[in-house]
Amino acid sequence: MYFKIRKIQDYLINRKSLLRKNEVFYLQILHYMKLLKGTKINSILEGSCPVCQNESMYFEKNPYKLKETLKMKERCGSCNTKYKIEPSFFYGAMYVSYPVGIMFASATFILSYLIFGIGLIPTYCIIVFVMIFSLPIILRISRNIWINFFMSYK
Ligand SMILES: [Zn+2]
Repeated sequence: MYFKIRKIQDYLINRKSLLRKNEVFYLQILHYMKLLKGTKINSILEGSCPVCQNESMYFEKNPYKLKETLKMKERCGSCNTKYKIEPSFFYGAMYVSYPVGIMFASATFILSYLIFGIGLIPTYCIIVFVMIFSLPIILRISRNIWINFFMSYK
């Protein structure tokens, strides 16, 4: 994680005047993620190995490369933990994806209907759109939560 931050810092210094707001935002997120290292929240948000949290469980970091969304490594390259404890282990993640989906939908509802005061029907459409668009993230977060039920950081 530290090296990641260094890399981004160097990158920002090189670009000086071209510094964009979202890059600073990303840097801040990385900073807070560093504080979370060792907690299950870190592993769940990052999709990192639940035992050592040193590397991603997925081949592709970006969940929106849809062919790669659910492709996971067999073992952790850092601590050799086997992710798939038993055959079809990750089917259990389906049970998790339901409450995670509801959380996304509720957050959208609160933002759209209660905070921004957008009407009920447009809010419904926004929720449908958000649910479709966030599906890759929901799928991954569900898997990450599921595996974190069974394994802990050492
Ligand atoms: Zn590991």
